[in-house]
Amino acid sequence: MDKQQEYVLRSIEEHDIRFIRLWFTDVLGFLKSVAIAPAELESAFAEGIGFDGSAIQGLSRVSEADMLARPDPSTFQILPWRGDHRGTARMFCDILTPDGQPAAADPRNVLKRALAKASDAGFSYYTHPEIEFYLFHEPATPQGPLVPIDDAGYFDHVARGTGHDFRRAAIGLLESMGISVEYSHHEGGPGQNEIDLRYADALSTADNIMTFRTIVKEVALTQGIMASFMPKPLSGEPGSGMHTHLSLFEGDTNAFYEAGREYELSTTARKFIAGLLRHSAEITAVTNQFVNSYKRLWGGGEAPSYVCWGHNNRSALIRVPMYKPGKGQSARVEYRALDSSANPYLAYALLLAAGLKGIQGDYELPEEAEDNVWNLSDAERRALGIAPLPNNLQDALEIMGSSELVAETLGESVFEFFLRNKRREWEEYQAQVTPYEISKFLRAL
Ligand code: GLU
Ligand code: MG
Ligand code: MG
Repeated sequence: MDKQQEYVLRSIEEHDIRFIRLWFTDVLGFLKSVAIAPAELESAFAEGIGFDGSAIQGLSRVSEADMLARPDPSTFQILPWRGDHRGTARMFCDILTPDGQPAAADPRNVLKRALAKASDAGFSYYTHPEIEFYLFHEPATPQGPLVPIDDAGYFDHVARGTGHDFRRAAIGLLESMGISVEYSHHEGGPGQNEIDLRYADALSTADNIMTFRTIVKEVALTQGIMASFMPKPLSGEPGSGMHTHLSLFEGDTNAFYEAGREYELSTTARKFIAGLLRHSAEITAVTNQFVNSYKRLWGGGEAPSYVCWGHNNRSALIRVPMYKPGKGQSARVEYRALDSSANPYLAYALLLAAGLKGIQGDYELPEEAEDNVWNLSDAERRALGIAPLPNNLQDALEIMGSSELVAETLGESVFEFFLRNKRREWEEYQAQVTPYEISKFLRAL
């Protein structure tokens, strides 16, 4: 047993932990959990805990159903909302095949493989997400009208506001689990909030996002309200994005920074951005994975619809944020398409792969977009070489289906499962007669 594993065993004794939840994520980004007793932990570290992988979305085919979940001791944390005494702790797991090999279809493993490629090229990869979500009163019926908990807007201070207390409660829990929060505020929509996590290596960030979603849902439950990460819950209001700031480091040095260059962007950063731009349409089915995601991308509210970059241009897909002079270590680029329902492991793996491809393929950075690209005409955008992001899930899947970059980064089983699952989602959606159609056409036609 290594030191970290010993530390976990000691903490469990010291804190009188009764349940240890083993967490992992399915291909669609849903958190899975199995609780074990402390006595099982040593063997869980040594061989993993067996479970039926075929029951988990995308993890394995029925013929290779047996899987093992092996906890990663570095992710050990006590769940603060489960009480102190006889408490509950959790660890994220790596999924293994019965012969002990990393399972190709484990999203955490997909990200680890992408990180290993970056590391071969000398880079480590950091991310920091701005996570937006809505808070609603619990509707009386599942279809019931959605009533946001307030009607405040961007940066509003809501007097005695539930949103205010909500963020305070959520941030308290996050910090007690070692997840640092940088900023939090009310967002543009009624009942919409944003919490920004401090930057961390991409694997920790992805784990942190999974924890974040759980905590936000838990706090909402205790307050008798409902939290949702749905990309576009209200048609006339902004959607919920998960803009993510990306940076590469070479050792201790930020590889995106170069003093004296335009916006202090290094050649590496320029090629990385060029890679993101060139491959953005191919990865959109993953960064924006639900039919509803495209209602956000194409529904205004500051979500990006066109493939371009800009310095502090909030209409662009990629924004190069301003940072204070002398803060070169914080050089980074913000990718704005991602929404709050994405599987963070897969999305971060693809963003990294796209950027690295730009570096390794020596891509050239196109001109920056200086205008508000939403206000240009189609002809003007074409003249500037600014293409649209996919219009809907079907188009996004079509483009992803012929992407070598995505196939290679996700690996065959995730790639194929994802396409199959999402094509089915699209067909199901297309088969619906919507309330919109009824109200528009039933009597009129
Ligand atoms: N809610 C917007 C989106 O869907 C982002 C607003 C902002 O700039 O933070 O991307
Ligand atoms: Mg925001
Ligand atoms: Mg942002």
